[in-house]
Amino acid sequence: PLVLGIETSCDETGIGIVRGRELLSNTIASSMDEQARYGGVVPEIAARAHLEALQPSIEAALAEASVSLAELDAVAVTSGPGLAGALMVGVGAAKALAVSLGKPLYAVNHLVGHIAADILTEDADRLEYPTVAILVSGGHTSLLLVRDLTSDVELLGETVDDAAGEAFDKVARVLGLPYPGGPEIDRAAAQGDPLAIRFPRGLSRASDMAEHRYDFSFSGLKTAVARWVEQREDAGEPVPVADVAASFREAVVDVLVTKALDACARHGVPRLLLGGGVIANRRLRDVALERAEAAGVTVRIPPLSLCTDNGAMIAALAAELISAGRQPSTLAFGADSTLPVTEIQV
Ligand code: ATP
Ligand code: MG
Ligand code: FE
Repeated sequence: PLVLGIETSCDETGIGIVRGRELLSNTIASSMDEQARYGGVVPEIAARAHLEALQPSIEAALAEASVSLAELDAVAVTSGPGLAGALMVGVGAAKALAVSLGKPLYAVNHLVGHIAADILTEDADRLEYPTVAILVSGGHTSLLLVRDLTSDVELLGETVDDAAGEAFDKVARVLGLPYPGGPEIDRAAAQGDPLAIRFPRGLSRASDMAEHRYDFSFSGLKTAVARWVEQREDAGEPVPVADVAASFREAVVDVLVTKALDACARHGVPRLLLGGGVIANRRLRDVALERAEAAGVTVRIPPLSLCTDNGAMIAALAAELISAGRQPSTLAFGADSTLPVTEIQV
């Protein structure tokens, strides 16, 4: 099926068009530059930016894919989770588009969309289920067991406080680095020693992971870094930014990879899928690949353009649902900022 997907859950306006598992276009407009002035995403600014970007983005995506609206088989949209106002703009636009075109509408889960991104990679035929998936972004840190993309996604654990990307952004601020902090910390860390400072690894003891508990906690780590830096400054000593960045990054990466591989072992699933914007982190990929190989686990990492928020993954998920014979959503749904990952379609 030919599907147009609309993604507006955070600060990216993503429009993607797929034909089944084939990616035809994936346009992304971001209000990141505007958000950077405030050091984070301001919901009202995101919503307004989506409103302005939607029409030109849809036109650009159609042109790039060389298809017309009339040719579409369905429209897909992220209905949650995410920022309420931002989601509402996308949901409203998708309903308007579907109704005016007389096309079926599929309202889908953003997190499951991140997993669906992998279907669009060139070697998708090698994707197998069940797989463990770890989604790491500015708003989410979730460990999932995916038995079937269209019908069976289990939440193994999620962050109880900050998301991993959020921790990168907050620690960057502590170190006087600009927003978004992930790439900045990555750059600074390249010159640092990851073993210089032993920062805490939240909820990482074996007892924390017993009984299927794979929750994450990053706010203690953020506080530990802030306190360490503060003590240095109070003592009038220079802050070794590169070492702090490298040691912090190591702590985050260690926790993410340890838990993901522990979940693979516990569930007897030798497959791990990585997703979300924090996957851009070189160290995270390297450590995941290295330790997974030692554990006999195959790792899949979609290209970065499909890891960060985008409309193609939403379209891809809807295309899978259609192929599985699922009925379209009724127009009764609305934006749901806390939609649980187990609700693949609403
Ligand atoms: P959502 O949480 O809804 O998926 P988001 O916009 O917050 O949306 P993404 O766009 O997927 O998330 O990712 C952005 C986050 O990734 C930011 O927190 C940013 O700091 C982080 N990030 C980007 N590059 C890197 C990197 N190289 N290392 C670590 N973190 C990174
Ligand atoms: Mg983003
Ligand atoms: Fe996302």
